[in-house]
Amino acid sequence: DQGRPKAPVATARPAHVRRVLAVASGKGGVGKSTVAVNLAAAFAARGLSVGVLDADVYGPSIPTMLGVSGAPDYIDNQITPHVAHGLKTMSVGLLTRATDAMIWRGPMASQALTQMLTQTRWGTEDAPLDILVVDLPPGTGDVQLTLVQKTPLDGAVIVSTPQEVALADARRAHTLFQKVQTPTLGLIENMTGPVFGRGGAEAEAGRLDIPYLGDLPLDAALREGGDAGVPVVVSDPDGDIAARFAEFAEAL
Ligand code: ADP
Repeated sequence: DQGRPKAPVATARPAHVRRVLAVASGKGGVGKSTVAVNLAAAFAARGLSVGVLDADVYGPSIPTMLGVSGAPDYIDNQITPHVAHGLKTMSVGLLTRATDAMIWRGPMASQALTQMLTQTRWGTEDAPLDILVVDLPPGTGDVQLTLVQKTPLDGAVIVSTPQEVALADARRAHTLFQKVQTPTLGLIENMTGPVFGRGGAEAEAGRLDIPYLGDLPLDAALREGGDAGVPVVVSDPDGDIAARFAEFAEAL
């Protein structure tokens, strides 16, 4: 009996959500959360109803980046998501006080994610959510593997900086998604320019045979928007950065 293969892990799809898209990175600090919120805003600018789920157990920054705080209402086993700039949002950071020292292990993190996915009122029968953007924790270890195994992801976007070390991490992230049969829909190069270089991610996407979506410059406006809780795509919808994100959203 022991040799018998285990049944596949049952993944609970969130109700009334048409599409679940993960944003991932092989390491922290490359701009994954910045991309997640601006990409979500770009989808919303295309007329879609959009949610952002912050599953980054190591550093949940979506509440800051969207300017939301406080525990959400929890009624009849359902979480009412905060709404910011037209985006519905829920974060693992709203489940724990910022000062709590939490040591997240794979099963605990995936339990929290499953709960946020399935118990948040993302959409209704009459008004389903078109797309839910999930900001995953950076890295490719056990926690990330458990999360992607248990989450019904329709596709993933990987964010990387141009340097070789970051690209090796992006490669590992792609391998992680291959393990769970989730298509990598594209690679985005972030912080392109004189500091970190340019072009590495495009070459890497070619080697991995995944779509290259384009680059984003190292730009103070992107950081300031994150700190202020207003994504650049929202504060400067006609600017160059918003135009980049509009292209990414169109390709996805
Ligand atoms: P991650 O989610 O990968 O850890 P973040 O999105 O939190 O990374 O970004 C890390 C820091 O870098 C944040 O302060 C963010 O505002 C800043 N940042 C991200 N991308 C850019 C960029 N293209 N230009 C300037 N600052 C950026």
